[in-house]
Amino acid sequence: MSGPDPEVVYLDNAASTRCDPRVVDVVVSHHLEHYANPSAAHAAGRRSAAAVEHAREHVRALVASSLPAEDTIVVFTSGATEANNIALHGLSSWAPERRRIVTSAVEHPSVLAPLDALVNSGFEIVRCGVDACGRVDVDHLAELVDERTALVTVQFANNEVGTRQPVDRVAAIAHEAGAYVHCDAAQAVGKVSVDLGVLGIDSLSLSGGKFHGPKGTGALVVRRELRPLLMPLMRGGGQEGGIRSGTHDVPGIAGLGAAARIAVEDLDSDAQRIGRLRDLLKASLLEALPGLELNGCETCRVPGILSVALPVGNAGLVLQLAPNVAASTSSACCAGTPSHVLAAMGLDDGRRARTLRLSLGRFSTEQDVRTAVDSIAAAVARIQGTPGAEPSSAVGA
Ligand code: PMP
Repeated sequence: MSGPDPEVVYLDNAASTRCDPRVVDVVVSHHLEHYANPSAAHAAGRRSAAAVEHAREHVRALVASSLPAEDTIVVFTSGATEANNIALHGLSSWAPERRRIVTSAVEHPSVLAPLDALVNSGFEIVRCGVDACGRVDVDHLAELVDERTALVTVQFANNEVGTRQPVDRVAAIAHEAGAYVHCDAAQAVGKVSVDLGVLGIDSLSLSGGKFHGPKGTGALVVRRELRPLLMPLMRGGGQEGGIRSGTHDVPGIAGLGAAARIAVEDLDSDAQRIGRLRDLLKASLLEALPGLELNGCETCRVPGILSVALPVGNAGLVLQLAPNVAASTSSACCAGTPSHVLAAMGLDDGRRARTLRLSLGRFSTEQDVRTAVDSIAAAVARIQGTPGAEPSSAVGA
């Protein structure tokens, strides 16, 4: 099996992916050979700096190849959370008369929490609703975005259900009103084609740990002309053009660059293979579990995420009874709290409690899918056949 534990099927790739061994090789070699500080003037420092710039070009090639290289900047961060924070603070505060930020109701906490903090700086945060599939209502969004709007921020794909947003249309609406557009693309980069220029957006964030790169790595990619708007969250030695001070994590950055290079090469084949596995997972679960319901969008989605409402009342209990399956009830970041995403999609409490997120990655196999389906079906059968194993919120099969 392909899990971190040989006995466990790992179907939690939306939370974190296994670092690709080709990436690990790059990380290790940089730890051993390029440990000099890239800010140092000596030859070893210059080699480390070259490794950082090399990685920057790979990231740019993955998410901004449609634009001339000089039109975008890539800022290395500790992940998408930091990139989102830098973007939202910087791109919102550029005109005193524009005090509105429009977002969707299904954003990740790394977008929602910094937006909440911006309320203290006088911003009004407006959340656009989504339909039952989790797609923003573009017509409604167009009504919310006006000449008071500084920034529109909408994710590329949702981390709980995998639904993709019509980001290009959102960008057109925002620009028409003179607002900037940020996109949290953490769940999409390295999985489907994402390009700043093609989407017509101003900035995007990505996370290395989501596409088989090292954890704790990420980047903010921004149109160069907006560079003056970005404000550092941390001040210090002025690395990354002053936007992100602190000694570069050269091995992590080189690893992120390697993950980006591999993603450029393998994107289509990975997406097709993972999509086929998801179809198999979906079909096998539907067959094994009458009454299973699908959450999210079956057409506009990233290939690796399958969100289902099980026919028994508590998905957490199912996972406890199927300990050889590593999956989530909603998202890792929101574990234990009711899902605002499923609520925004209009799913009732019972269906939310029955929801299980299974997410596939580059190293998932057909055998993983079959083992997971057998284990989940056996756990559901145990609950259905065992009065008392099921909490009172149970719904019938
Ligand atoms: N946005 C989305 C949609 C995510 O799924 C995540 C990770 N769960 C993040 C942002 C945050 O990424 P990171 O962990 O790299 O900070």
